[in-house]
Amino acid sequence: MMDLSTKVKKAGLRVTQPRLRLLELLSVSSQPLSFAQICETLEQQEIDNATIYRNLQKFVEKKIVHTIQQPGDVNLYSMSTHDHEHHVHPHFSCTSCKTVQCLPELSVKFKEHNEWDKALQNAVLHFSGVCPSCE
Ligand SMILES: [Zn+2]
Ligand SMILES: [Zn+2]
Repeated sequence: MMDLSTKVKKAGLRVTQPRLRLLELLSVSSQPLSFAQICETLEQQEIDNATIYRNLQKFVEKKIVHTIQQPGDVNLYSMSTHDHEHHVHPHFSCTSCKTVQCLPELSVKFKEHNEWDKALQNAVLHFSGVCPSCE
């Protein structure tokens, strides 16, 4: 895995302590985190919420971090594991343990009308069910 300050530099951003702390937190977390959860942890390291918010938006814009939109619930944030731009992976909400997880990357192919294959740039796919560890 690429080291975090290299990731920040490659995205054309200045390496700062709050940025590294934020990425560190997201990369060690096994699950996507909400803004509130991120603030709760980073507050202890005296990083204020406005700084966290600004840097999160920057990371999302630079595709280092991606947003997980949950219908009717808060957004979650997770590290992007692939560096290429149009990376489509679904998310999974477990109805039993209530966790949200990033699933492996998916390649999307249309059965007919394959002119839409190359048109596809982004997708929001959210699955739900009972996760393997709850089964
Ligand atoms: Zn579960
Ligand atoms: Zn994800």
